[in-house]
Amino acid sequence: MGLGVASLRQHIASLIDKPLLAIASHIHFDYAGGLHEFDHRAIHPAEAEALRSSDNHAAACSRELGFVLDEHFEQLPYAGFTAMQYTLNRAEPTQLLQEGDVLDLGDRAFEVLHLPGHSPGCIALYDAKNQELFSGDVIYDGELLDQLPGSDIPTYIATYERLQKLPINTVYPGHYNTFGRDRYQEPSNPDRS
Ligand SMILES: [Zn+2]
Repeated sequence: MGLGVASLRQHIASLIDKPLLAIASHIHFDYAGGLHEFDHRAIHPAEAEALRSSDNHAAACSRELGFVLDEHFEQLPYAGFTAMQYTLNRAEPTQLLQEGDVLDLGDRAFEVLHLPGHSPGCIALYDAKNQELFSGDVIYDGELLDQLPGSDIPTYIATYERLQKLPINTVYPGHYNTFGRDRYQEPSNPDRS
């Protein structure tokens, strides 16, 4: 749901007119930062308190981590904005999503998978009928981030072992390109750290 520095809600309003549930796949600032804008907000219980309390460390946007810097912004989202002032917008979740929950949209349904490792409360949405996975930061086609606050490598490995067994046609990750079954099933490159 974005960083929360520009209004995603206003942008989305111009695209759809249906009831909206904003889901943070996990607490990191680039996913949970805009959640406060929405009336209906969901996150996994393991990260609900971090959202409530604006936990910038758990959200990976504390100063020392250096993920939010002025040079990351091509334009100022509003006059006077500086990355130094950025904090996670606190928000009270209106719904908690956990393993096995089903979001039925009518024409398709998504099962919530709890896939910790990148962070404790990472979830992905799985459409079993179409074998599509909206994976957030759990799996994506780029450099693996497994040493952030809250990351746990053995837990992440267990998540990947689970994902290996999941029938997949298409993965829609939060970063980098969408990818298909072949890329999904490709063995990891041992030279890549
Ligand atoms: Zn993340």
